[in-house]
Amino acid sequence: MSLDPINELAELFRRLPGIGPRQAKRFVYYLLNADPATVTKLTDLLGRLRSQVKQCPDCQIYFASDNKNERCITCRDTTRDHSLLMIMEKDVDLEPMRRAGVYSGYYFFLGGLVPILDKEPARRVRLAALLRLIESKNKELKEIIIALATNGEGENTVDYLRQSLKSLVEKYDLKLSLLGRGLSTNSELEYTDPETISYAFKNRG
Ligand SMILES: [Zn+2]
Repeated sequence: MSLDPINELAELFRRLPGIGPRQAKRFVYYLLNADPATVTKLTDLLGRLRSQVKQCPDCQIYFASDNKNERCITCRDTTRDHSLLMIMEKDVDLEPMRRAGVYSGYYFFLGGLVPILDKEPARRVRLAALLRLIESKNKELKEIIIALATNGEGENTVDYLRQSLKSLVEKYDLKLSLLGRGLSTNSELEYTDPETISYAFKNRG
């Protein structure tokens, strides 16, 4: 039995990060009362998300594509520092790092974190793509910087990455570092100010 459109859409909105059942219902009623142009625009944008946004095969970030470029603007920029690769959780973590203006290397976005005691960590993060990217960089790459949230899941993910990258780190003699002091526990990069990020980057180790 399928739900009516109100409940079905509310169920769908509930799956969005940070949205509870009441908020989900409020979104639906907002749309029911919104002017038709807003609803048409939303429908149109959802369609264009699929047709005009690509995922970069190197760093995995989503970007608006004009179909001329396979890779995102950062990965296409050959003037960046090829010796550095920074691993972040998600696309939105990039902005504070970019604003801090201290990092000029390349990025990789894991797409998630590994919860503690998780049985299938490889399903949570884009490990295969990460290993492939590191292999493809081999001689140029010198250091991998892990820049994740400083909470339980973030730390668990760091442990998982250390194990998973061990053989490549040894094979190519890479340095594996973490964002350092200045990041208090339970901070998420997305919400960290550029000054703190800048300090943590300079104090990585
Ligand atoms: Zn990219």
